[in-house]
Amino acid sequence: MSDELDQASELEMLNTQIALANRQRPTMTFTGLCQNGDCGEKVDKGFFCCPECKDDYERIERAQQHRKVA
Ligand SMILES: [Zn+2]
Repeated sequence: MSDELDQASELEMLNTQIALANRQRPTMTFTGLCQNGDCGEKVDKGFFCCPECKDDYERIERAQQHRKVA
């Protein structure tokens, strides 16, 4: 009985580790444009023209991940 419990919590721990690993951002391709959806501003390097766009993008990304879970 207690063995089963141990296995369950071990599995839970493993799932948490996998979830954390998957949280890593997928590699973004440099396009020369701001990656924040509606912006499209040209950038010399990086993926966003300004910190606000980065915040926006991450907020949207988070919201999409929430939707996937639910
Ligand atoms: Zn931008």
